[in-house]
Amino acid sequence: MPHPLERRVIFQHIDEPGYSPDLACYLRQGGYAVLRKSVQRPPAELIDEVKRSGLRGRGGAGFLCGLKWNLVDRKSGKPIYLIVNADESEPGTFKDRYIIHQDPHQLIEGIMISCYANNVKQAYIYIRGEFPHGARILETAIAEARAANFVGPNICGGAYSCEIYVHRGAGAYICGEETGLIESLEGKRPYPRIKPPFFPAVLGLYQCPTIVNNVETLCHVKHIADIGGGAYAGIGTPNNTGTRLIGVSGHVQRPGYFEFESGKITLGRLLHEVCGGPLPGRKFKAIIPGGSSSKILRCDERFKIKQKDGTVLDWGYEDIPLDFDSFAACGTMGGSGGVIVMDDRVNLVEALGNLNAFYAHESCGQCTPCREGSLWMKKITARMVHGEARVEDGELLKNVADQIAGRTVCPFGEACSWPTQSFVQKFGDEFKAYAETKRQPRPVDALTLV
Ligand code: SF4
Repeated sequence: MPHPLERRVIFQHIDEPGYSPDLACYLRQGGYAVLRKSVQRPPAELIDEVKRSGLRGRGGAGFLCGLKWNLVDRKSGKPIYLIVNADESEPGTFKDRYIIHQDPHQLIEGIMISCYANNVKQAYIYIRGEFPHGARILETAIAEARAANFVGPNICGGAYSCEIYVHRGAGAYICGEETGLIESLEGKRPYPRIKPPFFPAVLGLYQCPTIVNNVETLCHVKHIADIGGGAYAGIGTPNNTGTRLIGVSGHVQRPGYFEFESGKITLGRLLHEVCGGPLPGRKFKAIIPGGSSSKILRCDERFKIKQKDGTVLDWGYEDIPLDFDSFAACGTMGGSGGVIVMDDRVNLVEALGNLNAFYAHESCGQCTPCREGSLWMKKITARMVHGEARVEDGELLKNVADQIAGRTVCPFGEACSWPTQSFVQKFGDEFKAYAETKRQPRPVDALTLV
């Protein structure tokens, strides 16, 4: 059952008893009615609706969807492709998988409306290799939609035709980066491309104009086409419109998936009212608010937020509204909506060791600062955890991280640096204490060493 504080749009039917991912169930809920109407409208009108809606991409960066569509080179004479980014590899993030498993036709309807609006004739769903079940569900759903004339030739009996293909990745975090994804889709090693010149809107898949949108983003397009961009913009707050899917994991009483109006509830209400607060006898210590690469928040720190009128807000973590801009004002990001909660049992050195092992493994290796730096960060934290921590290790880690961010081909450089920079900046005392207490070596399986 949804929590009373939720406002469900994308998850409207998803938890209803008996709701299933098959076409018959989706049609009983009025499914594909918006597509039927949309293909009767001029495509430019749909693009205008998305622009008016203020929809920001839900993959992590929060880039305006309408602006992204507007940047597409429509004069080149080349085909335009749409790629659905279903790679969802950011630790702590699991919302897109839920849509795919529970309501794949909602995604397919959003894809088809977006394709029609942008004159796309071929769309690809790039799904991460670890989601074989999700890939099978999508393939079944696409086959059902094709048989019912919602995908393929002459959609809904009209002149417009478009095909959707599911492409399974091999399980690499960097394929969540749009140009790495495109390289992988072309059958190559997923080395992210240099921008400029390789902006997907101009030089994307097969050097053609390409739109890359996240799963959740495309589901929102369906609802924008339904209620209109203006009405959608009335949900949420002016610069953070619509609803937002949030996945909460870690040390709360009720972790799970939720959907809220953007900016209308705070992180405190989410964690204490919706998720039931800390586990018995424990206290919250730290929160990673938007997937593992977002900067960590201390639960006892204060954030001074300067307003346009000169006044200054004094927020604790409980006061931060769940939207892109508020998290940015607090020096972190809402990112992919994956909230990871750690209580007072968690040792932050060991937690960072886990993250650094992950990022070192996932660096594609194309550029030196990221390839070498992520490996060094992993080695230092692994050494600390295995009983050889030095008092100066916190500073050393930060020094390495500072030489990665801003010096790489793709944003992975920042993604792998921000955890180390923020953990050391905010919990430097814990890093020193860890070395001073000369901890005994942890079991080898406590960290990934290779
Ligand atoms: Fe690859 Fe890292 Fe460079 Fe991105 S920053 S291209 S992941 S080596």
